[in-house]
Amino acid sequence: MAGRFAPSPTSDLHLGNLRTALVAWLLARSSGRGFRLRVEDLDTQRVAAAGDTARRQLGDLAALGLDHDGTVVWQSRRLSAYAGAVDRLDTYPCYCTRREIAEAASAPHGDGYRPYPGTCLRLSAARRAALEATRRPALRVRAGGARMTVTDLWAGEVTGVVDDFVLVRNDGVPAYNLAVVVDDLAMGIDQVCRGDDLLSSSPRQAWLAARLGGTPPAYAHVPLAVNRDGKRLAKRDGAVTLADLIGLGGTPSEVLGLLAVSLGLAEPREPVTTALLLGRFDAARLPRRPWAVDPSDYEAAWVNSRSIT
Ligand code: GLU
Repeated sequence: MAGRFAPSPTSDLHLGNLRTALVAWLLARSSGRGFRLRVEDLDTQRVAAAGDTARRQLGDLAALGLDHDGTVVWQSRRLSAYAGAVDRLDTYPCYCTRREIAEAASAPHGDGYRPYPGTCLRLSAARRAALEATRRPALRVRAGGARMTVTDLWAGEVTGVVDDFVLVRNDGVPAYNLAVVVDDLAMGIDQVCRGDDLLSSSPRQAWLAARLGGTPPAYAHVPLAVNRDGKRLAKRDGAVTLADLIGLGGTPSEVLGLLAVSLGLAEPREPVTTALLLGRFDAARLPRRPWAVDPSDYEAAWVNSRSIT
């Protein structure tokens, strides 16, 4: 039994990511589970800096005191596992471009996802041959319009229609939904705690887990951090990474304190440790609204307190 944190090494973790990692750690540890880490570096494997970014991400988690079990799993080293899973599924090639799907599909869902309308299931032999000559296909799973309901610890029941989603992209890279499910099963993950931008992917992933003979995990999606305008927090919003905050004179434990305050687990400026937070954590009392981050709140406090000494 284990929970996990699975960052993509596209950029340094910001406060919202670190907070989700902390909640995932608290939820796993408070329920007697192990805690695993996975680097989701499939998309970025051709980017030379992805390895460095991933190592900084892992370093940040360690600096905050979020320990983990087992070795870190790197998705770029697990290509044969994804290929093996694809072999066990009912799939078909899809030649559609993004634009063709947008034109054929109904309006996107609230999360921007467009369910696949099944165009390539119904290709004539002649049309297929013409497409084969000019385009490389993606591989889709045949889901047959299944519906799947998952229960999220905080959001409750979420039901989704499972479309014929992509398993392997047309550049040959395994798709996120495939890799996540294969890895969670292989790593013994039975508790998936992550940002709530992925809540709507859960029915698809739970369906795939069952399709592969596994038991879908328990889900717990954490509200995201937002900036002053209520938009998803990003690096351009100011000093929002651990390195930024250390640059301002903060310490990792003060940053842990900032995250703890946002979770209602500590008072402002109270010294905290992960062990203390674990003793206080109660999943039922997690704030259900996005966390509004305003760097000027802590920037001024840290810069002023350091300049007095
Ligand atoms: N790698 C994903 C991200 O950084 C998270 C995937 C997951 O937790 O399932 O957003």
